[in-house]
Amino acid sequence: MANPLDLRFLLSAPDADHLPPTVAEVAVAGRSNVGKSSLINALTGRRKDVAKVSKTPGRTQLLNLFDVDPDTRDGTSRGTLVDLPGYGYAAVPGRIRATWGPMIEGYLENREQLVMIMLLVDGEIGPTKLDLQMLGWMRELALPHSVIATKHDKVKASVREKRKRELAEACQLQPGDVVWVSAAKNIGIDRLRDLVRLWLSLG
Ligand code: GDP
Repeated sequence: MANPLDLRFLLSAPDADHLPPTVAEVAVAGRSNVGKSSLINALTGRRKDVAKVSKTPGRTQLLNLFDVDPDTRDGTSRGTLVDLPGYGYAAVPGRIRATWGPMIEGYLENREQLVMIMLLVDGEIGPTKLDLQMLGWMRELALPHSVIATKHDKVKASVREKRKRELAEACQLQPGDVVWVSAAKNIGIDRLRDLVRLWLSLG
């Protein structure tokens, strides 16, 4: 396995006002159960459950920060992964703020260090209404984002190409713009590690 990400839990913050200064941030967003924790753990390649912290009661509504590949000599932070609270299942009419809260919205809109938002979409079921609402909102505000389709292994090989086209189309993207991953089967994980390092300019 090539170059697992070295993720170190930094802290949990209730809102953007409580975040420490960082060099650059990649945020991870997606509805609950999309496979966010599994993916974060897979990126580390370690057996230890790094993302468990984000599932700890009381921490699920917080921004959970992990340093990525800190300096091996002195541990200096060089880039940070921000695990956002999962948003709800139901697509409520109206504003995103109704389900996700102004806190996250404010963070994504105003954080200068934010270089990329990974928007996770369940590859087995495709984007939900709320996922598409999120995507539309990110586009509207011209926030840097990438769609990551999870659970690649759950899509049967016989329908995979079709599903890839359909999912991309639903997101108004080209198939090549969607990064497909499987945390369970370690598919696309190396590529995503490379992308995270690229976004954070970690080389
Ligand atoms: P979160 O709520 O977004 O953090 O999602 P989890 O990581 O807890 O995953 C939700 C469910 O999907 C769990 O039952 C996981 O085992 C399952 N899951 C996550 N990633 C994968 C995957 O790549 N393949 C399969 N087959 N199941 C997955």
